[in-house]
Amino acid sequence: MAVLSIVLPAYNEEQNVRNTVEVLSGLLEENQIEYELVFISDGSRDATFSEIQKAVKANPHIRGAEFSRNFGKEAAIFAGLELAGGDAVIVMDCDLQHPPSVIPQMWKLWQEGAEVVEGIKQSRGKEGLGYKLSAGLFYKIMSKLIKIDMNASSDFKLLDRKVVDVLLSLPERNTFFRALSFWAGFRTAPVYYEVQERQFGESKWSFFSLMKYAVTNVTSFSTFPLQMVTVLGVISILFSVVLFIQTLVRFLSGTAVEGFTTVILLILIIGGFLMLSLGIIGHYLARIYEEVKGRPKYIISKVTENVQGEVIGAWKRE
Ligand code: UDP
Ligand code: MG
Repeated sequence: MAVLSIVLPAYNEEQNVRNTVEVLSGLLEENQIEYELVFISDGSRDATFSEIQKAVKANPHIRGAEFSRNFGKEAAIFAGLELAGGDAVIVMDCDLQHPPSVIPQMWKLWQEGAEVVEGIKQSRGKEGLGYKLSAGLFYKIMSKLIKIDMNASSDFKLLDRKVVDVLLSLPERNTFFRALSFWAGFRTAPVYYEVQERQFGESKWSFFSLMKYAVTNVTSFSTFPLQMVTVLGVISILFSVVLFIQTLVRFLSGTAVEGFTTVILLILIIGGFLMLSLGIIGHYLARIYEEVKGRPKYIISKVTENVQGEVIGAWKRE
């Protein structure tokens, strides 16, 4: 019988683990779906991992691992994919903002032959204005740059074993899970859901962490900003040709103005363009640097007893 793995990244979610286990196991048993829940505690500083261990004692369908520090949700998702053994894998938030009620629908689509089932957001749940502004801005930039509607897509998806194996075989460190499933292709079906309100705890994203996430993901997924540098260069060259001719004509006709203001403005504009371009190139350099170092995406410090494999630094499938 086919097994469904559910991967749940959890960072400081001690209040959510038990409830999430209850809701998911209840739902899956009711729908007679063979399942496993894979919790990845992302270097939580609260009792998340001991909550997971408690859950494992009560229910053998649950497995979990703890990171040595906070590596971020991306890393947690990939660790979860690595640990998951199911024929299909669903990734969802462990705060149940991704409604479990659509899981049976995803499972059915998978059984009917879909290899990727994308969770598409109908509307974001009730969230603060600051969050809306930052998330809204973030998704706008992302959608433009990588040509995928980021506003509607999410990390909530079902992947067939084939797709999971493809994603795990990618050598890159800076992954962007949400867009990678689009990139990978495969037969895709959508499910629509409403983002739920968070019951316990609070969102882990601040304005700045979102911005950082945006910049990292854009630079690891698109070279468009680099091409922008070229465009900026072309614009300044055109501009400088016009100014060059104008200055020369004025000089030759003997009406050259002192032009101190022009010089200051030009220095400021060109200086700004140069620094911006250097910054953009710097971001790519940083990505390349990280890739070249070749460090693992995450380090697992602990796994629950029922996880096979060795834990020295990074866990490896046997
Ligand atoms: N998360 C994580 N590592 C982090 C931040 C968040 O594993 O560094 C997890 C978190 O526990 C939750 C999911 O990612 O299961 C989504 O996080 P959150 O609910 O804070 O984000 P939001 O729903 O507000 O977008
Ligand atoms: Mg959430």
